[in-house]
Amino acid sequence: MENHHPENLDEETLFVVSQTFKALGDPTRIRILHLLFTNEYSVNGISEALNLKQSTVSHQLRFLKNLRLVKYRREGTTLYYSHDDEHVMNILEQMIKHARH
Ligand SMILES: [Zn+2]
Repeated sequence: MENHHPENLDEETLFVVSQTFKALGDPTRIRILHLLFTNEYSVNGISEALNLKQSTVSHQLRFLKNLRLVKYRREGTTLYYSHDDEHVMNILEQMIKHARH
């Protein structure tokens, strides 16, 4: 566990970890990531599934994309979003279990 000593956390790692917790610290972003657990969705699909404005969904997807937590593929004019990081999805799953036990 040598790598887990706090003194070994460099600035870049600290920044990414804190930004990632920030990403998970918002109810709307949690709902979007949770929806993307198993399926890919278009912006419109997310908007309908979660009853959110498309502009809200787009804004949050940009935030999540910047942190490489979601990715998209293009099909015609539609972008389909999916999650892009197993670690963070595992943390989210653990946190949901934690909240429910
Ligand atoms: Zn717990």
